[in-house]
Amino acid sequence: MSVPAYEYEGELKAIVDGKAIEALLATPPPGGAALEAILRKARSLKGLSLEEAAAILNLEDAAMLQKVYRAAAEVKERVYGRRIVLFAPLYISNLCSNNCLYCGFRRDNRDLKRKLLSPEEIGKEARALAEQGFQRVLLVAGEGRPGADVDYLCQAVEAVYRYSPLRIVHLNVAPQTVAGFRRLKLAGAGVYQCFQETYHPATYRVMHPTGTKADYGWRLTVMHRAMAAGFGDVGMGPLLGLYNYRFEVLAAISHARSLEQAFGAGPHTMSVPRLRPALGAALTEVPHPLSDTDFRKVIAVYRLALPYVGLVLTTRERPELRDELVDMGVSQISAGSCVSPGGYAEAEDPAAQFEVGDHRSLPTMVTMLLEHGHLPSFCTACYRSGRTGKRFTGLAREGDIQRFCLPNAILSFQEYLVTKAPPELKAAGERAIATALATIDDSNLREETMERLERTRRGEVD
Ligand code: SAM
Ligand code: SF4
Repeated sequence: MSVPAYEYEGELKAIVDGKAIEALLATPPPGGAALEAILRKARSLKGLSLEEAAAILNLEDAAMLQKVYRAAAEVKERVYGRRIVLFAPLYISNLCSNNCLYCGFRRDNRDLKRKLLSPEEIGKEARALAEQGFQRVLLVAGEGRPGADVDYLCQAVEAVYRYSPLRIVHLNVAPQTVAGFRRLKLAGAGVYQCFQETYHPATYRVMHPTGTKADYGWRLTVMHRAMAAGFGDVGMGPLLGLYNYRFEVLAAISHARSLEQAFGAGPHTMSVPRLRPALGAALTEVPHPLSDTDFRKVIAVYRLALPYVGLVLTTRERPELRDELVDMGVSQISAGSCVSPGGYAEAEDPAAQFEVGDHRSLPTMVTMLLEHGHLPSFCTACYRSGRTGKRFTGLAREGDIQRFCLPNAILSFQEYLVTKAPPELKAAGERAIATALATIDDSNLREETMERLERTRRGEVD
């Protein structure tokens, strides 16, 4: 019997069956009645089968697609209400020994200024973000040593907590072993995020010619290792544009289902990174470009198929499209992002990973969300109280997450208004809080939230 090269190697076929997914690509789009039946099921938060997702991905009819988008918006609202969570990435290292053809950090990009932040420098970046009002950050690192090593990554997580008031640190860093993930969890990491980039093995081989990332299976099994190590929350998502987006979305849903089966909880977040131009990348054009309509479909299908997932939209996308998509299923957005190590404290962008599409600041994004009737949230209560993974999914399934999340979101936004928001934002912010409060049905909970709000207004922080 051969010894597995890494933990969960035996799960590969169960995670994604490429042949079965290829076959599903030929699923015809639904007719009117079939679409209504699929959307009815999705509205009842039962998710979609892979066949139903494939059928919707093949829809081209504009009027039918509008129905799909409306259903996605409804599902988001039922699970998450009007809350949209805000976060920022914090790049700690752009050292990389891989050669991903699409990325500015790849090893063979000799023009990139390489940088690995020290714990003190990480603290400075974290304080700069906390100063803006952020409460959660996503640490991002290339896959070069020592920036990808567990020792360095644990120190990086600890540095954020030691040197800044930020409350939760998520990670988008090199895949680790189960033992490595255990240490990261102990250091205080919240969500572990890693993108498969492409689920199509032949495309994967071309895009990742050398380095540890060249091993498709090592990467595909990473979520299993992270969850086995105690990460209740993991984040995933293919990099859209490398291969047929329909294949990628179906494979990602299949990946999510395999986690549900193995661990009783699916991914905490699904991201929709779409390929951007990057200085020093080897790719000069997008191999499988997605139109904005394709992109809308991707978001809607994820929302309908995986109703409880946090859908993350980053600053890779243009402002107009981001403004539209926050009304259509997205539940988390980044803002004011800098995609190079040291970029926040230094106010320069010497070593970016790719071109950012939306440069708007945090207050501008908060204003936009308020204008759209959303409640901007800086909440981190779930991670700190252990309402993650299976517990979170269980609560969400019963629609109860609103009970916990809405009051906490209101309080976190109030704290932002009191401590960080520019004065011109305050009136609109207070109106949004009043509206959100009125939607808390339970009068005891409403009163308790009002009391806590009063304390926050007086300057008491959580
Ligand atoms: N180095 C680690 C890795 O590859 O997983 C984590 C950090 S990497 C900087 C984060 C993600 O950025 C990658 O997983 C990839 O999906 C995305 N990315 C890389 N190049 C990109 C580009 N040109 N446009 C958009 N996203 C890109
Ligand atoms: Fe390195 Fe990650 Fe960029 Fe690939 S995507 S070159 S692994 S930083």
